[in-house]
Amino acid sequence: MHIFLAALAHETNSFSPIPTTMRAFEEGILYRPGGGDGALAQARDFPGYGFLLDVARAHGDDVTFGLCAWAQPGGPVARATWEALRDELLEQLRAAGPVDAVVLVLHGAMIAHGYPDCEGDLLNRVRALVGPAVPVGALLDLHGNLTPAMTASGAVLVACKEYPHTDYLARTRELHAILARMARGECRPAVLVRTLPMLGLFGTGDAPMRALLDLVRACEAQAGILSISLMHGFPWSDTAATGAAVMVVHDTGAAHAARAGRIAAQLAQSFFALRSLGARAMLSVDDAVAAGLADATGLCVLADGADNPGGGAACDSTFVLRVLIERDARDVALGMIWDPLAVQLAMDAGVGAELALRIGGKVGVASGQPVDVRATVTAVRRDARQHGLAGRYTEALGDAVAVRAGGIDIVLNTRRQQVFSPECFTQLGIDLAAKRLVVVKSTRHFRAWFDAIAGTTLFCDAPGALNSDLASLPYAHLRRPMWPLDAIGEAEALGLAEHGHA
Ligand SMILES: [Zn+2]
Repeated sequence: MHIFLAALAHETNSFSPIPTTMRAFEEGILYRPGGGDGALAQARDFPGYGFLLDVARAHGDDVTFGLCAWAQPGGPVARATWEALRDELLEQLRAAGPVDAVVLVLHGAMIAHGYPDCEGDLLNRVRALVGPAVPVGALLDLHGNLTPAMTASGAVLVACKEYPHTDYLARTRELHAILARMARGECRPAVLVRTLPMLGLFGTGDAPMRALLDLVRACEAQAGILSISLMHGFPWSDTAATGAAVMVVHDTGAAHAARAGRIAAQLAQSFFALRSLGARAMLSVDDAVAAGLADATGLCVLADGADNPGGGAACDSTFVLRVLIERDARDVALGMIWDPLAVQLAMDAGVGAELALRIGGKVGVASGQPVDVRATVTAVRRDARQHGLAGRYTEALGDAVAVRAGGIDIVLNTRRQQVFSPECFTQLGIDLAAKRLVVVKSTRHFRAWFDAIAGTTLFCDAPGALNSDLASLPYAHLRRPMWPLDAIGEAEALGLAEHGHA
Protein backbone atom coordinates (compact mmCIF):
# COMPACT_ATOMS: atom_id res chain seq x y z
CA MET A 1 0.00 0.00 0.00
CA HIS A 2 0.95 3.59 -0.44
CA ILE A 3 0.26 5.05 3.00
CA PHE A 4 0.24 8.64 4.15
CA LEU A 5 1.28 8.79 7.81
CA ALA A 6 0.98 11.79 10.11
CA ALA A 7 0.55 12.56 13.79
CA LEU A 8 -1.03 15.59 15.43
CA ALA A 9 -1.80 15.03 19.06
CA HIS A 10 -2.51 16.96 22.24
CA GLU A 11 -4.44 16.11 25.38
CA THR A 12 -6.08 19.40 26.25
CA ASN A 13 -6.93 20.28 29.83
CA SER A 14 -9.44 23.12 29.78
CA PHE A 15 -8.45 24.06 33.32
CA SER A 16 -4.68 24.10 32.80
CA PRO A 17 -2.76 27.36 33.33
CA ILE A 18 -0.20 26.36 30.67
CA PRO A 19 -0.80 27.89 27.20
CA THR A 20 -0.19 25.52 24.28
CA THR A 21 1.52 27.29 21.39
CA MET A 22 3.90 26.33 18.59
CA ARG A 23 6.71 26.54 21.14
CA ALA A 24 5.07 23.71 23.12
CA PHE A 25 5.14 21.49 20.02
CA GLU A 26 8.74 22.48 19.29
CA GLU A 27 9.70 21.49 22.83
CA GLY A 28 7.66 18.29 22.52
CA ILE A 29 7.89 16.59 19.13
CA LEU A 30 7.72 18.47 15.87
CA TYR A 31 8.97 16.50 12.90
CA ARG A 32 8.55 18.00 9.48
CA PRO A 33 9.32 15.88 6.41
CA GLY A 34 12.53 17.02 4.81
CA GLY A 35 13.95 17.95 8.19
CA GLY A 36 16.60 15.26 7.98
CA ASP A 37 17.19 11.87 9.58
CA GLY A 38 17.66 13.33 13.04
CA ALA A 39 14.20 14.83 12.95
CA LEU A 40 12.69 11.57 11.69
CA ALA A 41 14.40 9.71 14.53
CA GLN A 42 12.63 12.07 16.92
CA ALA A 43 9.30 11.38 15.24
CA ARG A 44 9.91 7.63 15.56
CA ASP A 45 10.08 8.13 19.31
CA PHE A 46 6.42 9.09 19.32
CA PRO A 47 4.92 5.64 19.87
CA GLY A 48 2.06 5.64 17.39
CA TYR A 49 4.10 7.21 14.60
CA GLY A 50 7.15 5.01 15.12
CA PHE A 51 5.12 1.83 15.51
CA LEU A 52 3.04 2.56 12.42
CA LEU A 53 6.18 3.14 10.44
CA ASP A 54 7.62 -0.18 11.63
CA VAL A 55 4.42 -2.10 10.93
CA ALA A 56 3.94 -0.52 7.50
CA ARG A 57 7.50 -1.25 6.49
CA ALA A 58 7.21 -4.85 7.71
CA HIS A 59 4.31 -5.19 5.27
CA GLY A 60 6.28 -3.66 2.43
CA ASP A 61 4.19 -0.49 2.31
CA ASP A 62 5.39 2.66 0.65
CA VAL A 63 5.10 5.36 3.32
CA THR A 64 4.80 9.07 2.64
CA PHE A 65 5.76 10.91 5.80
CA GLY A 66 3.60 13.71 7.03
CA LEU A 67 3.94 15.89 10.05
CA CYS A 68 4.51 14.40 13.51
CA ALA A 69 3.50 16.92 16.14
CA TRP A 70 2.95 16.33 19.83
CA ALA A 71 2.98 18.72 22.77
CA GLN A 72 2.96 17.98 26.48
CA PRO A 73 -0.64 18.26 27.71
CA GLY A 74 -1.67 21.76 28.70
CA GLY A 75 -4.37 24.31 28.12
CA PRO A 76 -6.24 24.82 24.81
CA VAL A 77 -4.04 25.10 21.73
CA ALA A 78 -3.65 28.58 20.27
CA ARG A 79 -5.92 28.98 17.27
CA ALA A 80 -3.13 30.01 14.91
CA THR A 81 -1.03 27.02 16.03
CA TRP A 82 -3.83 24.56 15.36
CA GLU A 83 -4.66 26.03 11.98
CA ALA A 84 -1.00 26.12 10.94
CA LEU A 85 -0.27 22.51 11.91
CA ARG A 86 -3.55 21.22 10.49
CA ASP A 87 -3.10 23.01 7.19
CA GLU A 88 0.51 21.88 6.95
CA LEU A 89 -0.62 18.27 7.36
CA LEU A 90 -3.37 18.68 4.76
CA GLU A 91 -0.95 20.25 2.30
CA GLN A 92 1.42 17.29 2.76
CA LEU A 93 -1.46 14.90 2.10
CA ARG A 94 -2.42 16.84 -1.03
CA ALA A 95 1.17 16.74 -2.23
CA ALA A 96 1.41 12.98 -1.60
CA GLY A 97 -0.90 12.35 -4.55
CA PRO A 98 -3.13 9.27 -4.67
CA VAL A 99 -2.77 7.07 -1.59
CA ASP A 100 -4.25 3.69 -0.67
CA ALA A 101 -4.73 4.69 2.96
CA VAL A 102 -4.30 7.59 5.36
CA VAL A 103 -3.15 6.79 8.89
CA LEU A 104 -3.26 9.46 11.56
CA VAL A 105 -2.01 9.33 15.11
CA LEU A 106 -4.30 11.58 17.13
CA HIS A 107 -5.33 11.85 20.76
CA GLY A 108 -9.07 12.43 20.87
CA ALA A 109 -9.16 15.18 23.51
CA MET A 110 -7.59 18.05 21.61
CA ILE A 111 -9.16 21.49 21.86
CA ALA A 112 -7.97 24.69 20.22
CA HIS A 113 -9.36 28.18 20.67
CA GLY A 114 -12.32 28.26 18.30
CA TYR A 115 -12.14 24.49 17.71
CA PRO A 116 -13.73 22.42 20.49
CA ASP A 117 -13.21 19.24 18.43
CA CYS A 118 -9.84 19.34 16.66
CA GLU A 119 -9.89 15.66 15.70
CA GLY A 120 -13.35 16.00 14.13
CA ASP A 121 -12.19 19.08 12.24
CA LEU A 122 -9.07 17.35 10.92
CA LEU A 123 -10.69 14.02 10.03
CA ASN A 124 -13.44 15.69 8.02
CA ARG A 125 -10.95 17.88 6.13
CA VAL A 126 -8.88 14.77 5.36
CA ARG A 127 -12.00 13.02 4.13
CA ALA A 128 -12.93 15.96 1.93
CA LEU A 129 -9.47 15.82 0.42
CA VAL A 130 -9.17 12.08 -0.31
CA GLY A 131 -12.82 11.42 -1.15
CA PRO A 132 -15.18 8.77 0.21
CA ALA A 133 -13.36 5.67 -1.08
CA VAL A 134 -9.90 5.97 0.48
CA PRO A 135 -9.50 4.19 3.84
CA VAL A 136 -8.73 6.64 6.64
CA GLY A 137 -7.70 5.33 10.04
CA ALA A 138 -6.83 7.04 13.28
CA LEU A 139 -5.12 5.78 16.39
CA LEU A 140 -6.51 7.37 19.55
CA ASP A 141 -5.73 7.57 23.25
CA LEU A 142 -8.46 5.96 25.38
CA HIS A 143 -8.66 9.34 27.12
CA GLY A 144 -10.15 10.82 23.98
CA ASN A 145 -13.70 12.15 23.95
CA LEU A 146 -15.46 10.76 20.87
CA THR A 147 -17.57 13.23 18.92
CA PRO A 148 -20.22 12.71 16.24
CA ALA A 149 -18.00 14.68 13.83
CA MET A 150 -15.16 12.22 14.32
CA THR A 151 -17.32 9.23 13.51
CA ALA A 152 -19.16 11.05 10.72
CA SER A 153 -15.82 11.39 8.92
CA GLY A 154 -16.00 7.71 8.04
CA ALA A 155 -12.61 7.05 9.62
CA VAL A 156 -11.77 3.77 11.29
CA LEU A 157 -10.94 4.67 14.89
CA VAL A 158 -8.90 2.44 17.19
CA ALA A 159 -7.87 3.45 20.72
CA CYS A 160 -5.41 1.89 23.10
CA LYS A 161 -7.05 -0.49 25.57
CA GLU A 162 -4.60 -0.34 28.45
CA TYR A 163 -4.10 2.35 31.08
CA PRO A 164 -1.09 2.70 31.54
CA HIS A 165 -1.01 2.79 27.72
CA THR A 166 1.29 -0.16 27.12
CA ASP A 167 -0.46 -1.62 24.07
CA TYR A 168 0.09 0.93 21.28
CA LEU A 169 2.11 -1.52 19.20
CA ALA A 170 -0.71 -4.08 19.28
CA ARG A 171 -3.30 -1.42 18.44
CA THR A 172 -1.13 -0.15 15.60
CA ARG A 173 -1.06 -3.64 14.10
CA GLU A 174 -4.81 -3.90 14.57
CA LEU A 175 -5.50 -0.62 12.76
CA HIS A 176 -3.04 -1.37 9.97
CA ALA A 177 -4.62 -4.80 9.40
CA ILE A 178 -8.08 -3.28 9.06
CA LEU A 179 -6.89 -0.62 6.62
CA ALA A 180 -5.02 -3.22 4.55
CA ARG A 181 -8.15 -5.37 4.32
CA MET A 182 -10.15 -2.30 3.28
CA ALA A 183 -7.60 -1.45 0.61
CA ARG A 184 -7.90 -4.99 -0.76
CA GLY A 185 -11.68 -4.70 -0.77
CA GLU A 186 -12.09 -7.41 1.86
CA CYS A 187 -14.12 -5.38 4.31
CA ARG A 188 -16.12 -2.15 4.56
CA PRO A 189 -15.98 -1.10 8.21
CA ALA A 190 -18.65 0.84 10.00
CA VAL A 191 -18.20 2.47 13.38
CA LEU A 192 -20.81 2.36 16.13
CA VAL A 193 -20.39 4.53 19.22
CA ARG A 194 -22.49 4.34 22.35
CA THR A 195 -21.77 7.22 24.69
CA LEU A 196 -21.80 6.79 28.45
CA PRO A 197 -22.53 9.68 30.83
CA MET A 198 -19.64 9.02 33.18
CA LEU A 199 -16.30 10.58 34.03
CA GLY A 200 -13.36 9.00 35.77
CA LEU A 201 -9.95 7.39 35.55
CA PHE A 202 -10.01 3.65 35.09
CA GLY A 203 -6.70 1.87 35.55
CA THR A 204 -6.78 -1.40 33.67
CA GLY A 205 -4.40 -3.19 36.04
CA ASP A 206 -7.17 -3.80 38.56
CA ALA A 207 -9.24 -6.95 38.48
CA PRO A 208 -12.67 -5.62 37.42
CA MET A 209 -11.24 -3.67 34.47
CA ARG A 210 -9.09 -6.66 33.45
CA ALA A 211 -12.21 -8.81 33.39
CA LEU A 212 -13.99 -6.21 31.27
CA LEU A 213 -11.08 -6.16 28.81
CA ASP A 214 -11.26 -9.98 28.64
CA LEU A 215 -14.91 -9.57 27.69
CA VAL A 216 -13.95 -7.00 25.04
CA ARG A 217 -11.49 -9.46 23.50
CA ALA A 218 -14.09 -12.23 23.52
CA CYS A 219 -16.50 -9.90 21.70
CA GLU A 220 -13.81 -8.96 19.17
CA ALA A 221 -13.56 -12.65 18.24
CA GLN A 222 -17.18 -12.69 17.04
CA ALA A 223 -17.96 -12.73 13.33
CA GLY A 224 -17.74 -9.37 11.60
CA ILE A 225 -16.35 -7.51 14.65
CA LEU A 226 -13.08 -5.82 13.68
CA SER A 227 -12.10 -3.80 16.75
CA ILE A 228 -13.60 -2.59 20.01
CA SER A 229 -12.38 0.38 22.03
CA LEU A 230 -13.52 1.40 25.48
CA MET A 231 -13.07 5.15 25.56
CA HIS A 232 -12.55 6.36 29.11
CA GLY A 233 -12.75 10.01 28.06
CA PHE A 234 -10.75 12.89 29.53
CA PRO A 235 -12.70 14.57 32.34
CA TRP A 236 -10.59 17.77 32.33
CA SER A 237 -11.37 18.50 28.70
CA ASP A 238 -14.55 20.57 28.93
CA THR A 239 -16.63 19.81 25.83
CA ALA A 240 -20.12 18.64 24.98
CA ALA A 241 -18.65 15.25 24.02
CA THR A 242 -16.61 14.70 27.17
CA GLY A 243 -17.19 11.33 28.78
CA ALA A 244 -16.81 7.61 28.31
CA ALA A 245 -17.99 5.63 25.30
CA VAL A 246 -17.97 2.17 23.78
CA MET A 247 -16.89 2.04 20.15
CA VAL A 248 -17.36 -1.01 17.94
CA VAL A 249 -15.79 -1.19 14.49
CA HIS A 250 -17.60 -3.83 12.48
CA ASP A 251 -17.98 -5.00 8.92
CA THR A 252 -21.05 -3.85 7.05
CA GLY A 253 -24.05 -6.11 6.66
CA ALA A 254 -27.25 -6.35 8.65
CA ALA A 255 -26.15 -9.32 10.75
CA HIS A 256 -22.83 -7.75 11.66
CA ALA A 257 -24.46 -4.42 12.47
CA ALA A 258 -27.02 -6.09 14.69
CA ARG A 259 -24.29 -8.02 16.49
CA ALA A 260 -22.27 -4.82 16.94
CA GLY A 261 -25.31 -3.13 18.44
CA ARG A 262 -25.82 -5.94 20.95
CA ILE A 263 -22.14 -5.94 21.88
CA ALA A 264 -22.05 -2.15 22.32
CA ALA A 265 -25.10 -2.32 24.57
CA GLN A 266 -23.66 -5.16 26.64
CA LEU A 267 -20.26 -3.51 27.06
CA ALA A 268 -21.83 -0.14 27.85
CA GLN A 269 -23.79 -1.76 30.65
CA SER A 270 -20.73 -3.58 31.98
CA PHE A 271 -18.53 -0.46 31.81
CA PHE A 272 -21.12 1.76 33.45
CA ALA A 273 -21.48 -0.80 36.24
CA LEU A 274 -17.81 -0.19 37.09
CA ARG A 275 -18.21 3.60 37.28
CA SER A 276 -17.41 3.80 40.98
CA LEU A 277 -13.87 2.60 40.19
CA GLY A 278 -13.33 5.84 38.30
CA ALA A 279 -13.99 8.03 41.30
CA ARG A 280 -12.04 6.19 43.93
CA ALA A 281 -11.73 8.07 47.21
CA MET A 282 -8.25 9.53 47.50
CA LEU A 283 -6.23 10.42 50.55
CA SER A 284 -5.71 13.99 51.65
CA VAL A 285 -2.10 15.16 51.39
CA ASP A 286 -1.70 15.00 55.19
CA ASP A 287 -3.13 11.50 55.46
CA ALA A 288 -1.15 10.25 52.45
CA VAL A 289 2.15 11.53 53.81
CA ALA A 290 1.40 10.09 57.25
CA ALA A 291 0.53 6.72 55.73
CA GLY A 292 3.55 6.77 53.46
CA LEU A 293 5.99 7.54 56.28
CA ALA A 294 4.42 4.88 58.50
CA ASP A 295 4.40 2.25 55.79
CA ALA A 296 6.64 -0.74 56.46
CA THR A 297 6.26 -2.70 53.24
CA GLY A 298 9.49 -1.46 51.69
CA LEU A 299 9.36 1.43 49.26
CA CYS A 300 6.08 3.33 49.36
CA VAL A 301 5.21 5.19 46.15
CA LEU A 302 2.89 8.18 46.55
CA ALA A 303 1.32 9.61 43.40
CA ASP A 304 0.60 13.35 43.31
CA GLY A 305 -1.68 13.00 40.31
CA ALA A 306 -3.30 16.42 40.61
CA ASP A 307 -0.04 18.05 39.47
CA ASN A 308 0.71 15.56 36.67
CA PRO A 309 1.94 17.46 33.60
CA GLY A 310 0.92 14.42 31.55
CA GLY A 311 -2.64 15.64 32.03
CA GLY A 312 -1.87 19.32 31.65
CA ALA A 313 -0.93 20.35 35.19
CA ALA A 314 1.82 22.85 35.92
CA CYS A 315 4.10 20.33 37.67
CA ASP A 316 5.44 22.82 40.19
CA SER A 317 3.05 22.44 43.11
CA THR A 318 4.47 22.26 46.61
CA PHE A 319 1.60 20.88 48.70
CA VAL A 320 3.18 17.48 49.30
CA LEU A 321 6.70 18.87 49.71
CA ARG A 322 5.53 21.36 52.32
CA VAL A 323 3.91 18.63 54.44
CA LEU A 324 7.04 16.47 54.17
CA ILE A 325 9.19 19.36 55.39
CA GLU A 326 6.80 20.18 58.23
CA ARG A 327 7.07 16.57 59.38
CA ASP A 328 10.86 16.61 59.05
CA ALA A 329 10.53 13.50 56.87
CA ARG A 330 13.61 11.29 56.34
CA ASP A 331 14.60 8.88 53.58
CA VAL A 332 12.18 10.46 51.11
CA ALA A 333 12.57 11.37 47.43
CA LEU A 334 10.23 13.65 45.47
CA GLY A 335 10.17 14.47 41.77
CA MET A 336 10.03 16.07 39.43
CA ILE A 337 9.25 19.71 40.10
CA TRP A 338 9.35 21.88 36.97
CA ASP A 339 11.41 24.89 38.01
CA PRO A 340 13.93 26.10 35.39
CA LEU A 341 15.04 29.01 37.56
CA ALA A 342 15.85 26.85 40.58
CA VAL A 343 17.63 24.38 38.28
CA GLN A 344 19.80 27.17 36.91
CA LEU A 345 20.69 28.43 40.38
CA ALA A 346 21.55 24.92 41.60
CA MET A 347 23.61 24.19 38.48
CA ASP A 348 25.50 27.43 38.87
CA ALA A 349 26.17 26.65 42.53
CA GLY A 350 27.44 23.21 41.56
CA VAL A 351 27.52 19.78 43.17
CA GLY A 352 28.30 19.95 46.86
CA ALA A 353 27.22 23.55 47.24
CA GLU A 354 24.76 24.57 49.91
CA LEU A 355 22.39 27.40 49.05
CA ALA A 356 19.11 29.01 49.93
CA LEU A 357 16.74 27.78 47.25
CA ARG A 358 13.15 28.79 46.54
CA ILE A 359 11.34 25.83 44.97
CA GLY A 360 8.12 25.55 42.96
CA GLY A 361 4.84 27.35 43.49
CA LYS A 362 5.34 29.74 40.59
CA VAL A 363 2.72 29.06 37.92
CA GLY A 364 -0.47 29.87 39.81
CA VAL A 365 -2.60 29.35 42.87
CA ALA A 366 -2.99 25.63 42.13
CA SER A 367 0.79 25.37 42.51
CA GLY A 368 0.70 26.52 46.14
CA GLN A 369 3.30 28.83 47.62
CA PRO A 370 7.01 28.50 46.84
CA VAL A 371 8.98 26.56 49.45
CA ASP A 372 12.23 28.03 50.79
CA VAL A 373 14.81 25.48 51.84
CA ARG A 374 18.46 25.27 52.74
CA ALA A 375 19.51 22.89 49.96
CA THR A 376 22.63 20.90 49.19
CA VAL A 377 23.14 20.20 45.50
CA THR A 378 23.85 16.45 45.17
CA ALA A 379 23.74 16.01 41.39
CA VAL A 380 23.38 17.97 38.15
CA ARG A 381 22.73 16.56 34.71
CA ARG A 382 22.33 18.11 31.28
CA ASP A 383 19.81 16.49 28.93
CA ALA A 384 18.45 14.02 31.46
CA ARG A 385 16.20 11.28 30.09
CA GLN A 386 13.98 8.43 31.19
CA HIS A 387 12.36 5.40 29.65
CA GLY A 388 8.81 6.17 28.57
CA LEU A 389 5.76 3.99 28.21
CA ALA A 390 6.93 2.60 24.90
CA GLY A 391 10.00 1.18 26.63
CA ARG A 392 12.41 3.51 24.87
CA TYR A 393 14.95 5.71 26.64
CA THR A 394 13.66 8.77 24.96
CA GLU A 395 11.64 10.96 27.28
CA ALA A 396 13.60 14.20 27.52
CA LEU A 397 13.61 15.83 30.94
CA GLY A 398 15.77 18.81 30.05
CA ASP A 399 18.41 19.76 32.58
CA ALA A 400 17.88 18.20 35.98
CA VAL A 401 19.33 18.61 39.46
CA ALA A 402 18.95 16.76 42.72
CA VAL A 403 19.02 18.78 45.92
CA ARG A 404 18.77 17.57 49.51
CA ALA A 405 16.78 19.48 52.08
CA GLY A 406 16.83 17.79 55.47
CA GLY A 407 16.01 14.15 54.78
CA ILE A 408 14.31 14.83 51.43
CA ASP A 409 15.95 14.42 48.03
CA ILE A 410 14.16 16.65 45.52
CA VAL A 411 14.54 16.42 41.74
CA LEU A 412 13.99 19.64 39.80
CA ASN A 413 14.08 19.91 36.01
CA THR A 414 13.56 22.29 33.13
CA ARG A 415 11.07 20.38 31.00
CA ARG A 416 7.51 19.68 32.17
CA GLN A 417 7.35 15.92 32.17
CA GLN A 418 5.72 13.33 34.39
CA VAL A 419 7.67 10.59 36.12
CA PHE A 420 7.50 7.42 34.06
CA SER A 421 10.50 5.53 35.37
CA PRO A 422 12.76 5.40 38.47
CA GLU A 423 15.53 6.83 36.25
CA CYS A 424 14.21 10.30 37.11
CA PHE A 425 15.85 9.65 40.47
CA THR A 426 18.52 7.02 39.91
CA GLN A 427 20.34 8.93 37.15
CA LEU A 428 20.80 11.72 39.66
CA GLY A 429 22.33 9.32 42.14
CA ILE A 430 19.24 8.83 44.31
CA ASP A 431 19.04 5.21 45.45
CA LEU A 432 15.34 4.39 45.78
CA ALA A 433 16.15 1.11 47.54
CA ALA A 434 17.39 3.21 50.47
CA LYS A 435 14.18 5.28 50.62
CA ARG A 436 11.01 4.63 52.53
CA LEU A 437 8.86 6.96 50.41
CA VAL A 438 9.07 8.33 46.88
CA VAL A 439 6.59 10.96 45.67
CA VAL A 440 5.95 11.06 41.91
CA LYS A 441 4.05 13.63 39.86
CA SER A 442 2.10 11.18 37.73
CA THR A 443 -1.43 9.85 37.80
CA ARG A 444 -1.01 6.23 36.77
CA HIS A 445 1.56 5.78 34.00
CA PHE A 446 4.34 5.53 36.60
CA ARG A 447 2.98 2.12 37.56
CA ALA A 448 4.31 0.53 34.38
CA TRP A 449 7.84 0.92 35.81
CA PHE A 450 7.32 1.45 39.57
CA ASP A 451 5.03 -1.44 40.45
CA ALA A 452 8.02 -3.78 40.35
CA ILE A 453 9.80 -1.88 43.14
CA ALA A 454 6.82 -0.59 45.15
CA GLY A 455 5.79 -2.24 48.41
CA THR A 456 2.75 0.02 48.62
CA THR A 457 1.27 2.54 46.17
CA LEU A 458 -0.79 5.44 47.49
CA PHE A 459 -2.74 8.18 45.69
CA CYS A 460 -3.39 11.60 47.16
CA ASP A 461 -5.49 14.47 45.95
CA ALA A 462 -3.91 17.90 46.20
CA PRO A 463 -4.95 21.12 44.46
CA GLY A 464 -3.91 21.19 40.79
CA ALA A 465 -5.20 21.23 37.24
CA LEU A 466 -5.89 17.49 37.53
CA ASN A 467 -7.64 17.68 40.89
CA SER A 468 -9.97 14.71 41.08
CA ASP A 469 -12.82 16.57 42.77
CA LEU A 470 -14.65 16.90 39.46
CA ALA A 471 -17.64 18.57 41.13
CA SER A 472 -15.41 21.54 41.92
CA LEU A 473 -14.40 22.15 38.29
CA PRO A 474 -15.97 25.15 36.53
CA TYR A 475 -17.41 23.19 33.61
CA ALA A 476 -19.14 25.30 30.97
CA HIS A 477 -19.77 22.78 28.16
CA LEU A 478 -20.07 19.37 29.79
CA ARG A 479 -23.37 17.67 29.00
CA ARG A 480 -25.55 16.75 31.94
CA PRO A 481 -26.54 14.61 33.64
CA MET A 482 -23.07 13.18 34.11
CA TRP A 483 -21.93 10.73 36.75
CA PRO A 484 -20.46 11.38 39.36
CA LEU A 485 -21.62 15.01 39.22
CA ASP A 486 -25.24 13.92 38.97
CA ALA A 487 -27.18 10.98 40.32
CA ILE A 488 -27.98 8.97 37.22
CA GLY A 489 -29.45 5.50 37.08
CA GLU A 490 -28.50 2.69 34.76
CA ALA A 491 -31.68 2.87 32.69
CA GLU A 492 -31.21 6.56 31.98
CA ALA A 493 -27.47 6.18 31.35
CA LEU A 494 -27.84 3.33 28.90
CA GLY A 495 -30.62 5.02 26.98
CA LEU A 496 -28.31 7.74 25.74
CA ALA A 497 -27.12 8.54 22.28
CA GLU A 498 -25.52 6.39 19.67
CA HIS A 499 -23.60 7.83 16.75
CA GLY A 500 -21.39 6.45 14.07
CA HIS A 501 -21.14 5.79 10.38
CA ALA A 502 -22.14 2.90 8.19
ZN1 LIG B 1 -4.17 8.70 27.95
